[in-house]
Amino acid sequence: MNFSKRANGRVLVIGAGVVGLTTALCLRRRGFQPIVVAEKFAPETTSNVAGALWEWPPSVCGRHHDERLLDHAKTWSMESYREFERLATQPGSGVTLRTAVFYFKQPVADNALEWAKMNELKHRVRAFRHSPELITEYGISPKSGVVDAYEMRAPTIDTDRYMAWLKQEATTAGCAFVQKRIPSPLREHEDTLRRQFGVDAIVNCSGLGSVALAADDSLSPHRGALIRVRNDGKTMPRVERAHCVANDPSQEDQDMVFIVPRGEDTLLLGGLVEADEWRTDINLRNYAPIQRILERCTAFLPALSSASIDPIEPARVGLRPFREQNARVEHETGTSIIHNYGHGGSGVTLSWGCAFQVADLMDELLGQQTLAYGTGA
Ligand SMILES: Cc1cc2nc3c(=O)[nH]c(=O)nc-3n(C[C@H](O)[C@H](O)[C@H](O)COP(=O)(O)OP(=O)(O)OC[C@H]3O[C@@H](n4cnc5c(N)ncnc54)[C@H](O)[C@@H]3O)c2cc1C
Repeated sequence: MNFSKRANGRVLVIGAGVVGLTTALCLRRRGFQPIVVAEKFAPETTSNVAGALWEWPPSVCGRHHDERLLDHAKTWSMESYREFERLATQPGSGVTLRTAVFYFKQPVADNALEWAKMNELKHRVRAFRHSPELITEYGISPKSGVVDAYEMRAPTIDTDRYMAWLKQEATTAGCAFVQKRIPSPLREHEDTLRRQFGVDAIVNCSGLGSVALAADDSLSPHRGALIRVRNDGKTMPRVERAHCVANDPSQEDQDMVFIVPRGEDTLLLGGLVEADEWRTDINLRNYAPIQRILERCTAFLPALSSASIDPIEPARVGLRPFREQNARVEHETGTSIIHNYGHGGSGVTLSWGCAFQVADLMDELLGQQTLAYGTGA
């Protein structure tokens, strides 16, 4: 590959969520010149809403159990794990490594999928421990119905800080930013966009925007919500660990438990997975399924019974960009477009691995073609 071409390739990155910003930063570090264009920036992205717990796929809110599709996700999430571990040592990044405990309603050994998942991840993560004793050790209610558990050290990300940090890193590295809505479908506007922005290639990191931009009808929203509770140790003992019970999609009722500390003094309570719901004007006051999150989490971890809800922002609601075939990270044949969207409930977890793959694809793409619009051709 011709490095001088690669070093000067100009790239339009559509989207300024965690996927777009991470991709732009990776491309810049490889020598490309990214311009990030987005309709919305933090704090108005789904990425700011995310609970942002790193998880080994499938995530607790996930519904992908197809091994073939999960293989890529496992590689991407492990690459992200290593990157987040490094970032946890950088002041101001918003990344913290914490103990995350996963609980089960039957012994892990009795469920083939969970058993395989546990055996894959236990040698890959730090401080892994499998024991039903974790249930009593961490004060989980005996009425919760869980009988088994394991824990590990996992990255948790304070998205408000992290999104600001990512944008600053990308800016300092030399990425440019433009606020603008890109018209759909992307393929029809590709040549105009390349001329307009003077770029050689386009990366589509538009999350749910790809329903229209990529004309992808296998992409749809999975609405979620997280209640925000004070975790400063004043009204309840400070919760230091994440506690999770996976969503069971075969159950009609929401049954997921997602208790995740954020930063120094916030605790997030989830979760909710509502397929094909586009509206985000629901909140703790007017929507019973959000109220039930609080009841479910308190029934699970009784220490939360004296929890004090954040008076300024009681809950956040967002739409996970769920895609049947899992995240799409590929070059669209016959175009200069690389896609990186559809990460569902794992966009933070997969962000670095996917961005590295996009940078590899860009090396291949711009290594082959004549740079028609780039300044350095
Ligand atoms: C309640 C909840 C809990 C979650 N918990 C976790 C978790 O614990 N761990 C985890 O890893 N993930 C979690 N997620 C998932 C995570 O939030 C998403 O996977 C991730 O944010 C997707 O990032 P993104 O950058 O693709 O999308 P977004 O953050 O939505 O960003 C999309 C960007 O594209 C731009 N855009 C879209 N269309 C256009 C257009 N036509 N023109 C210009 N710009 C456009 C938008 O303006 C925006 O800048 C959770 C999500 C929710 C809702």
